[in-house]
Amino acid sequence: MSLAELFERAKQLSPTLAFSTVTRTIARLESTSEVTRIDWRERGSHFEWAADPHHHIVCRICNTVRDLNDSELGFDSRLVEQRTGFSINRHSIELVGLCQRCQRSNN
Ligand SMILES: [Zn+2]
Repeated sequence: MSLAELFERAKQLSPTLAFSTVTRTIARLESTSEVTRIDWRERGSHFEWAADPHHHIVCRICNTVRDLNDSELGFDSRLVEQRTGFSINRHSIELVGLCQRCQRSNN
């Protein structure tokens, strides 16, 4: 979820909460790798609790997001490391397209 969404939810629990408290908390969780920032350029940064490496497929019309795992993408980080000589710390791949619902309403 985005910072704005997070702030809205947190405010329901604690109405006096300051936005700066949320940004500071997220920055701390990010520095300890407890949350991951996903940089979706057009939509702004989103944050997720750190989990197994996974990826996202995003609908460019309604912004529906589905998680994908490495095996669904056929992604093998060790193979990429062998081919590029990089050592990979984390990876997140974003695929963009049209969900089934938007494909139907687009036809
Ligand atoms: Zn859609």
